[in-house]
Order: sequence, then C-alpha cells, then structure tokens
Amino acid sequence: MKWSRELSNSITTLTKLRSCIDLREEELRFPRLRKNKSEQIHPVRIPPVFAELLSRKGGAAREVIRRQFVPTEAEYTVLPGESLDPLCEVAYSPLSRLIHRYPDRVLLITTEQCAVYCRYCFRRRFTERAGAINSEEIKEASEYVTTRSEIREIIFSGGDPLMLDDGTIEGMLSEFSALRKTRAKPLSFRIATRIPTALPSRITGGLLRILQQYVPLWLVLHCNHTEELTPRGTEAISRIVDAGIPVVSQTVLLRGVNDRSETLAELFENLVSVRVKPYYLFQGDAASGTSHFRVSLPRAFEIIRDLRGRISGLAMPVFATDLPGGGGKKTLHEDMSVRRENGNFLFTGNDGRTYRYPDESNSDATYCHESRPLL
Ligand SMILES: *Cc1c(COP(=O)(O)O)cnc(C)c1O
Ligand code: SF4
Repeated sequence: MKWSRELSNSITTLTKLRSCIDLREEELRFPRLRKNKSEQIHPVRIPPVFAELLSRKGGAAREVIRRQFVPTEAEYTVLPGESLDPLCEVAYSPLSRLIHRYPDRVLLITTEQCAVYCRYCFRRRFTERAGAINSEEIKEASEYVTTRSEIREIIFSGGDPLMLDDGTIEGMLSEFSALRKTRAKPLSFRIATRIPTALPSRITGGLLRILQQYVPLWLVLHCNHTEELTPRGTEAISRIVDAGIPVVSQTVLLRGVNDRSETLAELFENLVSVRVKPYYLFQGDAASGTSHFRVSLPRAFEIIRDLRGRISGLAMPVFATDLPGGGGKKTLHEDMSVRRENGNFLFTGNDGRTYRYPDESNSDATYCHESRPLL
C-alpha cells in the first residue's frame, strides 16, 4: 500500500472514531472532535494499524491505544507548573527549528506533522504553526553547525521526520553529511520517529536506500507498549535493521498505559527480540493538560526497582526525566534521595541550577479525571 493512502485512511474525525468505538462522556467532550479548529489543543490522528487495535474487543490493545491517542476533556485541566513548552525549548533555539541545549548535539525540528498524535506530547506548542522544513531552513541549520566543531550529532526530530517526503529527507541528510568531510571527529545522525509501528508502509525500499547512504545514522523508535509491535510494525523494524541502521527505543512512562513493571518488562524484552535496544524510559513531562498521564515519582521508582530484578541489562533502558524549565535530561536512580518542597521534587541540572518537577503524589494536585488501572 502507498503510505500516503495508508495515512489518509487515518481516523481524524468524530464520525470515523465513532465507527470504531463507543465514545465515553469525557471523550465526547473534547471539542476538537466536535466543531472548529480554533478550539483544538493538539490534532487528532489515529492511523489504520492503531485504529485496527482500537476496534478490537477484549485484550489490552484497545485501552492501550485509546488512552494514548483518543483525546478527552482531561486535556483541559492545566495544572500550575505545566506549560506548552515544559522544556523551554524555545529559549534554547538559536534558529526557529534548531534546539541547542547540549554543547555536542543539536536537535532539528524537521516538521510538525506526525502519523499519530499522542495525547501526552510535550511539543504541544506546535499546533499553531505548520509545515515541513524547507531548503533555506536546512541551509541555515547546516551553516550553524559548520562553524561549531563541538557538535558531533544531529538529531532529526519533530513532529516525525519520516513524514517528510523522500526528496526532502535526502536533501537534508546530504546537506548535513557534506559537513562530515570537513570535520576531524565523526558527525552522527539520529532520527526520532514513531512511524515504523504507526505507519509501516512508510518504510519503503526507497526510503531505506536513502537512509543507508548516510550512516552512521541511528533510528530512535518511540514505543510504549507491546501491543504497538504489530506484525506489520515488527516487519518494518526488521527491514530497517537489515538495512544496517541500528534501532534504539524511547518509552514514556504513562499512567494507565504502561505503569506496571510486568508491562514494561514485556515491552523491553520484546523490543530486544526484534533487535531494538531500549534506550530511554522517560518520566512524563509537565506539558499542559497531561497530568492524567503522569506517574508519581515514588511510584515510578517502585516500578524501576521491580523491573531491574526482572529483565536483562540489555533490555533495561535508562530511566530519566527532562527537567522542566530547560535543565536537560537527568538520569534517575531508584535509590537516589530526592528533596521535596512545596509540591515539587528538586533536582540539580547539569548546569548546577535547581529545577522543579511536580510532585504528583502531593495532595494539592487535582485531576478532573482519575484514571483507572487498565491493564
Ligand atoms: C533529548 C535531547 C537530546 C539528546 O539527548 P541524549 O541524552 O543524547 O539522548 C539532544 N538535544 C535535545 C534538545 C534533547 O531534548
Ligand atoms: S509522535 Fe512524538 S512529536 Fe508526534 S505527537 Fe507523539 S510524542 Fe508528539
């Protein structure tokens, strides 16, 4: 199937969603699915592979997909401390599409489109802007990198970079790979994507032939539950690895989706079995309207502790949080002692400054919907 056709068969309207599942009251109250775009918080799109899981009765798949991709009115509950840009990425952007937080790595926002829109997305600020990166912006970004020899890695992110057409991807990779010739140290590429499992038809032979030309290139797959590893998704992953592109994964710890050690153990072991190395497990970001997804830190530590005893080191990702306010990624150890103050956990960022992460077990935090354990 052509990927554009698969994409256009996604659920984006209330009518289509209703033909798949009976909506709950709190889902029907999400205005984006009702009327005009001005009320939208974050777009809705559920591609066919995931829609198929959503329509399946019995088993965990339906709730896993529903919870991640079907919006509810809980997204309108914004807690103090939450933000549309929780990681202060805008403040770390020397160019509109380039985030430079760590000296040796830059992250390029290549598009704001995704094959599937996750309700807990931390880049919710995107919805007001549009479009894919153009050749001028690519040129600007590569000029920025040219003069900074400390940069060793370009992370292509978004949105989902594999939503770009082949020509744009090839143009972008070739522009940055030209810089490799002039540098003493290697310059590696990383593509962060959810597409292999969300829209497997996108992983065409043509795309793989492009990617292969620009190794070292790593692919980071966003995957939160074993149910997402459908036969078609798994087959797409397999073709990527066979093409010589190493794949690692990142997972977000999400209440009601994967907040049990058994669920995560199964996911990470299955990822290893399809030749994907679990790389990061992230504590949920303080993005506006996503508190119903966050797991309290003490509970998260309990899960990690249990997980460590269960699975091989190869299957175990690094547990980390991206510190709200732009402190960067902080590795969390389940035996670390964390200071608590006024409804926040306090962390020291790599820059030595103090950053606050909301203490969800604090009684001041209020939710409009208490989620039930689903698994
Ligand atoms: C996550 C992130 C990176 C990559 O961090 P790693 O720890 O190398 O995976 C780089 N830049 C930004 C802005 C990021 O958010
Ligand atoms: S795929 Fe990534 S960028 Fe896109 S909606 Fe999901 S979390 Fe956000």
